[in-house]
Amino acid sequence: MAGFRIPEQVIEEIKASSELVSVVEQYVRLEKKTGQNFFGLCPFHSEDTPSFSVSPSKQIFYCFGCHKGGDVIRFIMEIEKCEYLPAIQLLAQRAGITLPEPDDEAYRLRSEKTKALQAINLEAARFYYQNLISTAGRDARAYLQKRQISAQTVRRFGLGCALADWDGLYRHLQNKGLADDVDLLLQSGLLRRGKSGNLYDLFRERLMFPILDVMGRVVAFGGRVYDDSVPKYINSPETPIYTKGRHLYGLNLAKSSKAGRLLMVEGYMDVIALYQAGIDYTVAALGTAMTENQARLLAKYSESVIIAFDADAAGQTAALRSLDILHQHGLKVTVLQVPEGKDPDEFIRNNGSERFQALIEQSLPLLDFKLLAARREHTHDGALDILAYQDEACDVLGKEENAIVRELYAGRLADELSAMSETVLREIERRRSQKKPGQQHDQLRQTLLTTRRSEPAERHAPATRDEIYLLTLLASDSAIWPVLDPGPVVEDFSEGSMQTLAAAVLPLAADGRLDMPLLLDQAQSLTVMGQPLADLLAQAGMKQEERFGQQGQLEAAVELLKRQRRGKLMRRKDVISQAIMTADPVERDRLKQELLEISQQLEKMKSTSQ
Ligand SMILES: [Zn+2]
Repeated sequence: MAGFRIPEQVIEEIKASSELVSVVEQYVRLEKKTGQNFFGLCPFHSEDTPSFSVSPSKQIFYCFGCHKGGDVIRFIMEIEKCEYLPAIQLLAQRAGITLPEPDDEAYRLRSEKTKALQAINLEAARFYYQNLISTAGRDARAYLQKRQISAQTVRRFGLGCALADWDGLYRHLQNKGLADDVDLLLQSGLLRRGKSGNLYDLFRERLMFPILDVMGRVVAFGGRVYDDSVPKYINSPETPIYTKGRHLYGLNLAKSSKAGRLLMVEGYMDVIALYQAGIDYTVAALGTAMTENQARLLAKYSESVIIAFDADAAGQTAALRSLDILHQHGLKVTVLQVPEGKDPDEFIRNNGSERFQALIEQSLPLLDFKLLAARREHTHDGALDILAYQDEACDVLGKEENAIVRELYAGRLADELSAMSETVLREIERRRSQKKPGQQHDQLRQTLLTTRRSEPAERHAPATRDEIYLLTLLASDSAIWPVLDPGPVVEDFSEGSMQTLAAAVLPLAADGRLDMPLLLDQAQSLTVMGQPLADLLAQAGMKQEERFGQQGQLEAAVELLKRQRRGKLMRRKDVISQAIMTADPVERDRLKQELLEISQQLEKMKSTSQ
């Protein structure tokens, strides 16, 4: 895939066929307010009054709350939390545009196989769903009813069922013309070859859970029996499109949650029941121990993760150690305990979602939970084996990187053990020093990172409304630049942020390449009088048509540039007039000369504009 680029004209075609309002409306309920723009509750941050706006004429979105904004591609990247290429692919797919593929035989074959396998999986999901809502699906429906799963939730998760026959799916795929390539069918993992050479279905008489990747494509299935027979669950084997430990069940939905955290549970039914109860940020690891890949996935979509942990499970400390991998990926980890060894699904059915919500709020930082688990593990018949406990607790705390946190917990542990806190801390530090070298290095790196982050704040001059509108006009109509003669230069803009922005965007405007998304992009992280510059630009961009009319934009730009230049000269004139009074004779002469030149320029402007 390296070096593969989609031609500019195809991207333009995709943008042209992806009307922003209709794309946004698939995610956000929009209302048309005054003027031409739409408003809605921002999908990127939590809010009660709409500050998320979409301009159909400019084809940009902008949130005045969290300052995210841009074009349709940026919207998809933000809302699907994906990179540029997947966003393009998704929009192309929606618009029915076929993307060119790299001229590489191996890539072409691989991508064809991926598509074919995705098609088989999608068709299988449809088949299982049809089974579920048919008369033959009554066992599965009864099971779901018992678990209080609504029809709406069934659709949301695409649940289905496999019936008792041996080749229902196989025959269905044949009818759909997807069964010609036997090798491919076997690679899908959904079918197997019997001794007689015939193909038969892997899943029979099971409730079916489609496993979706983060972009919402069906990549595999899990199947559950309706009773207590074993195996309770079987899953698709690994296939060219499904690698175990690479996916998180439910992430395709949870990634859009505004909760700002993810909740990690064990099973499919937990994810589904919690989602139905309004806890829409739940994912499941699909039966594997936490993998490096999953930790990376979690870290990509959230900064903090809550782990639902079975408090009564055996071998807790070992299981907890597997959570360190999350910590290493920079995630804030807390642990939630579901009482009485219940799973979240069962707990919520018996106690309701408020009680579960309370458990979430009571979740303990990983370190606290490890200490609690150590205490439990070394408590036998109600008596704490204090030596074993302090040994384990010091080990746990010795692994903590933050010295302040270590000291804090040492104090608590000392209280618990009725020991001196210095003694406990010394023991913890002794265990640390026995650990492998290399830590020093990390600390140094951390220091470097933090110093670099705190750069001095830039000083900003104010901006005028004229120059803001001038830029948004230039960004909306490439016919404006050639008319401005001489065209605007960096010095026409106010010192500070406006000149920084002008330096970046004027060359683009001169090339006819400047548009609103680019303008907003270049303004990111610039502020004017404490306000994000992108806010001012987005506001102006969305209002300018009302203000100048569609026809008047060209004339408006000419006039704004003139006013901006005049205004700058007037302000300079004021500054000089002030300075002259206190200047020494030599300086005074120079200033007088400049004052004269400014007056002449202003005169000239007056005469040309009449
Ligand atoms: Zn927002």
